[in-house]
Amino acid sequence: MSNTKQETIVVDGLALAQDIRKELAEEVSKYAAAGKRVPCLAVVLVGDDPASASYIKGKQRACAQVGMEAIERHLPASSSQEEVIQVVEELNRDDAVDGILVQLPLPKGISPNAVAAAIDPAKDVDALHPNTAGKLLLGNPTIAACTPLGSMEILDRQGIELEGANAVVIGRSNIVGKPISLMLQSRNATVTMCHSKTRNLKEVCQQADVLVAAVGVPRLVKGDWIKPGAAVIDVGVSNIDGKLVGDVDTEGAKGIARIITPHRRGVGPMTITMLLRNTLTAYRERTGE
Ligand code: NAP
Repeated sequence: MSNTKQETIVVDGLALAQDIRKELAEEVSKYAAAGKRVPCLAVVLVGDDPASASYIKGKQRACAQVGMEAIERHLPASSSQEEVIQVVEELNRDDAVDGILVQLPLPKGISPNAVAAAIDPAKDVDALHPNTAGKLLLGNPTIAACTPLGSMEILDRQGIELEGANAVVIGRSNIVGKPISLMLQSRNATVTMCHSKTRNLKEVCQQADVLVAAVGVPRLVKGDWIKPGAAVIDVGVSNIDGKLVGDVDTEGAKGIARIITPHRRGVGPMTITMLLRNTLTAYRERTGE
């Protein structure tokens, strides 16, 4: 066995995201040049949570960057579930809207599942509707959850071999852990899905050629949990005294992992970029372009 230290690539997710946004902008500009309407994303914000408002602004800026239209429906925090669903249904009926995103979390008393189920699956660019999740399960997705899609794009663009690889996913949420496990499995990785009740998590992780941490526990994954040469995707983001921290001890992973995504400029910018890509896909499918 060689004693040479592994050179670790810290993936610049923002640079990758910008490359993909350029590709998307080129696609969109073709429609604009042909005098066609451009894809349109509608974002629904309920209440005045500053973090949600800032995420919405980021998504609107990203749409503008690639030449897509973005419209916002802002409802007061006092809105009822029926009022939110009514807005979603109006957007469903609006032919000029291709994608609908309802910013989570919603105020207390409004069920995110009920609101997600009201979205027209053809416009479900945030992949929250049960039909969208079902399509992924059956292996025929067109649109899928944005963070898992962004993570898969990173693995592909870094040339990580997935077929036959041991993939370990920590976290089993509907928006990250479950969909990325299915995506990895559909690419012929052998997937182990871990969660808060998993025994011997460290030893399980040590077997991973591809390790995805989507937990929300700061620096849960230490350097000695990582198999030399593994690809590590750190999805988790926690706010510790105003400082953002990932699920993986990035410094500890350096010299061991082959690639690692940092908690800043890692998966985050790719998530928004996949939202744009999903919106373009929805536009194409709806318009037959
Ligand atoms: P979530 O719904 O809270 O799920 C967390 C998962 O982690 C659960 O399955 C939970 O297990 C598991 N877990 C909790 N503590 C654990 C432990 N000590 N050991 C092993 N597993 C443990 O979270 P999420 O929505 O998937 O998000 C996960 C993280 O990713 C969060 O930090 C979130 O902020 C971040 N995130 C980032 C992006 C991005 O774009 N960068 C996007 C989405 C989410 P149980 O199921 O047993 O409870």
